[in-house]
Amino acid sequence: MTKSALVTGATGQDGSFLMELLLKKGYRVYGLVRRLSVPNLGNIEHLIDRVTLIDGDLIDQSSLNSAVKEAEPDEIYSLAAQSFVATSFVQPVLTGEITGLGVVRLLEAMRAYAADARLYQASSSEMFGKVDREPQDEGTPFHPRSPYGVAKVYAYWACVNYREAHGLFVSNGILFNHESERRGLEFLTRKVSNGVARIHHGLAKTITLGNLDAKRDWGYAPEFVDLMWRILQHKESDDFVGATGEAHSVREFVEEAFHVAGISDWEAHVKIDEKNFRPSEIYNLRGDPGKAKRVLGWQAKTTFKELAKIMVEADIENLEGSRKPK
Ligand code: GDP
Repeated sequence: MTKSALVTGATGQDGSFLMELLLKKGYRVYGLVRRLSVPNLGNIEHLIDRVTLIDGDLIDQSSLNSAVKEAEPDEIYSLAAQSFVATSFVQPVLTGEITGLGVVRLLEAMRAYAADARLYQASSSEMFGKVDREPQDEGTPFHPRSPYGVAKVYAYWACVNYREAHGLFVSNGILFNHESERRGLEFLTRKVSNGVARIHHGLAKTITLGNLDAKRDWGYAPEFVDLMWRILQHKESDDFVGATGEAHSVREFVEEAFHVAGISDWEAHVKIDEKNFRPSEIYNLRGDPGKAKRVLGWQAKTTFKELAKIMVEADIENLEGSRKPK
């Protein structure tokens, strides 16, 4: 029988790659989208004819109930969130409402109308925050460093609790940063790849950044949505870290991105502005994906350098045609 999947956060980077994967696997796919006066369907325009979009919002319980009733999902992918760390410092209450409580609302809708479904929760390496060990795995304690991280910890434990208290199949993927040409422009990797492409085309001279010393474990998003799917095919609900196992600094990413575009004096094109620093930063994140490999046969493949190349080349191509006349 055709399986049905409901994806929240359908218009985001992960939602778009995941819906592609589910369509390829023959699922009937429903995507929850927030109604906006100017729709942001850019990432999923090529999928619109093949998926059913349902209007809904994580702050509105009845809209989630209706979405679950309509989709009759076998699998629910909880990807929607206020997902940008910097914004969470200026909108902490909204972030808690959506990224934290929103997941409980979705769990309630599942409990009432799809108790036999399986739910994947997009947990985050930001939950580890101020880490006391390296690499981080499923047993590493959480010490979040932003309202976003705090909200994700709440949602994580809500999922564990619904598993233990109500016997629902709810699994967490604790995913480290994963990027792509579809990443939002506010995130570091995309801000840099887009900025480098603009400099390449003569549309800008510099990029303004913040802390270049922070390290992240950056992987390629399409591989990480495959992990989400695998987590829900496992015989029991459980929690898994998804990571490449390698960490690189922001500085290294910037250097590599300029290198891809053939620009050697990158420092001449980068400005630093205090406003791009976080009130409390996470300096070092590196995941241990051993359990995902052992139990699910999953492994990240795209290297750090390949990721930078994919992103910079895609942005250079996107901006082809907007080159400034000399
Ligand atoms: P995060 O790991 O979820 O916060 O993902 P981001 O892509 O937003 O940030 C990754 C790292 O890059 C963090 O340590 C940021 O402090 C650092 N960073 C340095 N400059 C910038 C910038 O201008 N924008 C963003 N988004 N991050 C920056």
